[in-house]
Amino acid sequence: MTGYIDSHAHLFSEEFQDDFDAVIQRAKNSDVNRIMIMCTRMDEARRAMAFAAEDPKRYQVAVGIFPDDVDHAEEWYPEFEELIQNPGIAAVGEIGLDYHWVQDKKKEQQELFARQIESAKKVHKPILVHARDAMQDCFDIMKQHQAKGLMHCYSGSAEMAAEFTKMHIYISLGGVITFKNARRAREVCAAIDSSFLLSETDCPYMAPEPFRGTKNEPCRIPLIVAKMAEIRGIPEEDMKQMIYENYDRFLKEPA
Ligand SMILES: [Zn+2]
Repeated sequence: MTGYIDSHAHLFSEEFQDDFDAVIQRAKNSDVNRIMIMCTRMDEARRAMAFAAEDPKRYQVAVGIFPDDVDHAEEWYPEFEELIQNPGIAAVGEIGLDYHWVQDKKKEQQELFARQIESAKKVHKPILVHARDAMQDCFDIMKQHQAKGLMHCYSGSAEMAAEFTKMHIYISLGGVITFKNARRAREVCAAIDSSFLLSETDCPYMAPEPFRGTKNEPCRIPLIVAKMAEIRGIPEEDMKQMIYENYDRFLKEPA
């Protein structure tokens, strides 16, 4: 199987409750053949795993305690730690740091991030990292723990992206690269070691142009990959194939 990759889709969030089957069908029709389903709740992950088990090559499931939920971490951790041992969980995420929404709990977030990295290492699974206004701290913690995984919806500089890829950390880009004012994301896309580049929607958020502001879904991936190919000056088909191979390799590189 080949096809497009969506490395970050919140398919089991409430926003897709009413049109789930149609969204899945549109993804298939658009040749989006591998999707990482992101779960931020344990019961959400169990539902996603039951669905993904029907076609495990096509669907992967990730679960993690999101930095905004740092207050629930103690309560949720035992179930999280048990769940990630399940072969139905492919990766741990999204985890990381968010100083945009939660500014007063930086230390707690850093501890939770480091703790989840160590838990991912124990079960030999890669991590998917959310970094918002916290790129340097994320980098430092990942370096300190020698963690492997991917930076989702990467918003840092091209220089920092090069530092991440040196540590075998993948860089995933989404709809932002299609936005008019997204010079930095396009610089990253142009400069990065292409064997570490991945595509994502972050749906239901971050719809690419010309759908900016609407509910996003996996079938929008071809618009993002077309933009990546244009930026790198290569045929779209080559870009698509490269990302497919990158994703396969990414899944086999545990934290
Ligand atoms: Zn997400």
